[in-house]
Amino acid sequence: MKAEIIAVGTEILLGDILNTNAQYLSKELAQLGIEVYFQTVVGDNPQRLKDTLYQAFSRADLIITTGGLGPTEDDLTKETAAAYFGEELVLDARALGRIQKYFDRTGRVMTENNRKQAMVPKEHGIVLYNDNGTAPGIIIEKNNKIIVMLPGPPKETVPMFENQVKPYLQTKQEYTFVSEILRVASVGESAMETLVKDIIDAQTNPTIAPYAKFGESILRITAKAKTEAEAKTLIAPIKAALRERLGSAVYAEGETNMQTVVAQLLLSKHLTIAVAESCTGGLLTSALVEYPGISEVLLEGCVTYSNQAKMQRLGVQAQTLETYTAVSAQTAAEMAEGIAKTSGADIGISTTGIAGPDGGTAEKPVGLVYIGLSIKGKTTVTEYHYTGKRNQIRERATMYALDLLRKALQYEA
Ligand code: ATP
Ligand code: MG
Repeated sequence: MKAEIIAVGTEILLGDILNTNAQYLSKELAQLGIEVYFQTVVGDNPQRLKDTLYQAFSRADLIITTGGLGPTEDDLTKETAAAYFGEELVLDARALGRIQKYFDRTGRVMTENNRKQAMVPKEHGIVLYNDNGTAPGIIIEKNNKIIVMLPGPPKETVPMFENQVKPYLQTKQEYTFVSEILRVASVGESAMETLVKDIIDAQTNPTIAPYAKFGESILRITAKAKTEAEAKTLIAPIKAALRERLGSAVYAEGETNMQTVVAQLLLSKHLTIAVAESCTGGLLTSALVEYPGISEVLLEGCVTYSNQAKMQRLGVQAQTLETYTAVSAQTAAEMAEGIAKTSGADIGISTTGIAGPDGGTAEKPVGLVYIGLSIKGKTTVTEYHYTGKRNQIRERATMYALDLLRKALQYEA
C-alpha cells in the first residue's frame, strides 16, 4: 500500500506552527510497513485542496489528512474528499450527540455551525468518534482508494490514530510489523554502528536500524511476520546478541529516557542525591527534576561557578584550586564529596569543565570536563573530552554524568 500525508492548514504554510502530525504519521506508517512517498502541506483553500487531493490519489492508495475538520467555513477537508468520492454528507445523530455533550461538559454553548462537524458520508464512510475534541475523524473507502481524515490538534490526532486508525490499517495489511528499541548511552552513533555492524549486516528479518538522538544512540529492531507473537520470537535472539555485544552501554529498552532511568534507580534503591554543578550550570539538576516524584531523593542542586562558591558552599580547599585549578580531577572530587557531606545525601555528583570558547589552554583545552561521583564516601572522577559548541559540551556533560550515575547504580550501589 502506497500512502501520502496531506496536512491542511494555512498556519503551517505561514510557519506559525510546525507540522508535527506529518512526522508522527510518517513514523507510525513506516512501522506498519506502509510506504509513504509524499508529504504535502496545503492551505485552507478549496481549489488548491481539491487539486492536491486529486494529484495524491493519482499516485497513492491511501491518503491521510490532518486538519480542516473544524466547524468554520474554511474547514473544508471533509467536503472536498466527499466530493472526490461522489459521497453525499448526512447528519450523524451520534456524532452530534457527542459534540453536544462535549460542549455541555466544557460549559460552553454549541453554535449552529458545529452541526457541520457531525456531517458524515452517507454510504462509504467510517466515523471515528473523537474522545478529545469535537470533530470526528472520517474514513472513506471506495474503489480501492482510502482517505483517512483526522483533526488537526495533535492531542486529538494522535489518540485517534493510535486507537482507531492503526487497528483499521492493520486489517488491510497481510503482515504485521513489530519494533523493539534498545537505547544506548555515551557511545555515539558511529562507534555503536561499528560495534554491531556484523550483526546488522547479517540480518534481513528482523532488520536493525541505528540512529542518533540527542545524547544517545538507538537501535530499532523491526520484524515482519504474520502475527505479533511470531515477530517477537524473531526479535528475541537478535536483541539478546546486541545486548551482549554492547554490554552496559545499553541503558534501557523501549520508550524512556536517561533521566527517567536514573530517577527510578535512585527511588528504588532509596538513595538520596545532591548535585554540585560548575560548567553544566544547573542542567544536571534540571534533568533530574524532570522526573515527577524525584523530590523524595533529590535533596539539592548548587551552581557553584566561582572558586569562592566552590570553597564556601562545598568546602573545596583553596590549596586544591591553586595547585590544580578549578577544572581538575581533584576539584571535581572535592566538589562531589563536599555537596554530599554538606547536604547529608548518600550521593554527591559534580561537574567542572571548560565549555569555551573563552577558556582553554593547550594543557586544558575547551571541552575538557571532569565529573565527580561520591557514593557513600567512595569517590571516583572521570575525565571527558568533548567537541562542539558551548551548549553542546554542557549538554553532553549532563548526559554523561547521568550515565555515570546510572552505571554506578545499576552495577554497584
Ligand atoms: P479545529 O476543530 O480545532 O478547528 P481542525 O481539524 O479544523 O480542528 P485545524 O483548524 O486545521 O484543525 O488546526 C487546529 C490546530 O491544530 C492548529 O491551530 C494547530 O495548533 C494544530 N495543528 C493543525 N495541523 C497540525 C499539524 N499538521 N501538525 C501539528 N499541529 C497541527
Ligand atoms: Mg479548524
